[in-house]
Amino acid sequence: MRFKFLGTGTSQGVPPIAYEGGGLNLACAKNWRTRTSAHVEMAGKHVQIDAGPEFRMQCLNCGVDWIDLFLLTHGHADHIAGMDDLRRFCDRLPDNVIDVYSNDYGLERIAAMFPYAMKGKPTERGYPCFNAMKMPEVLDLGKSGRISSVVLPHGPVETLGLVFESGGAKIAYYTDCKELPQRAIELARGADVLVLDALKLKKHPSHMTIYEAIDYAAGIGAKVSYFTHTTCHIDYEVWEEKLPEGMHIAYDGLVLEV
Ligand SMILES: [Zn+2]
Ligand SMILES: [Zn+2]
Repeated sequence: MRFKFLGTGTSQGVPPIAYEGGGLNLACAKNWRTRTSAHVEMAGKHVQIDAGPEFRMQCLNCGVDWIDLFLLTHGHADHIAGMDDLRRFCDRLPDNVIDVYSNDYGLERIAAMFPYAMKGKPTERGYPCFNAMKMPEVLDLGKSGRISSVVLPHGPVETLGLVFESGGAKIAYYTDCKELPQRAIELARGADVLVLDALKLKKHPSHMTIYEAIDYAAGIGAKVSYFTHTTCHIDYEVWEEKLPEGMHIAYDGLVLEV
């Protein structure tokens, strides 16, 4: 599998508008983070996870030119706001419709924000069209592998945790979560790559701190773990030095092959 981190920043992006804080070295390109999203290539199937406000530029920067299916982890604006730009991918698909999977909250937000994309076919030439479905516990992609999903608590809402398996490799992707339920931990066991939410240093009601993420990563013991959805409180170079072996801060444009 090929896994691309398109964006690795928190909901406001890093740095946020009118950033006045210190501590983040803006001369380091890896500290400039767009909203969190990722792209997974599974034996020829191209799967896009989330589409935030910078989705179009992320696709251009990371060479994403085809999407077979779209997974929305949850309906927060930093993950859903760029979905209109799926129009370009709809243009390239048969019937100009893209399969979209999410949880109840995500599907509700998609219908509220993009009602014109829910009509079964594009309402105007070039408009997006979503075939929106509830994400099953296991989505079988035949020869390309399978994607398992698990419910993750995220403050007042829930997020889809996603585990990708293809060609004997496994990648677990758990963004936007306050903690990992036992099922999520079990599903991630034996992963080649584990991606975890690690918002900042201080406790937060709906995200994990970097310390909580380190503890979960150590317990799961993936070959390598990456922390994403980080705020301006986490400087790339400072934390890369501090993190235990096999753990890293993810950055925009990072590509992994497993
Ligand atoms: Zn988020
Ligand atoms: Zn969120």
